[in-house]
Amino acid sequence: MKVDVSRPFGKRECPSCATSVPANHNRCPICGYAFPALTDRQQGLKIGAALLMLALLFALLWWL
Ligand SMILES: [Zn+2]
Repeated sequence: MKVDVSRPFGKRECPSCATSVPANHNRCPICGYAFPALTDRQQGLKIGAALLMLALLFALLWWL
């Protein structure tokens, strides 16, 4: 399998110095900016949204 390195996927821009930093790096190699860990919060939001949808679905089914 060939990996296309020109794709923007897997990179993020440092908000401090605007350097393109690989996504697996938690710290900017240029200025040392530490990226905030968003994965846990995003996961929590995703689960929360899913539970809300499920609750709404149940409410709708119970109502009918
Ligand atoms: Zn930086």
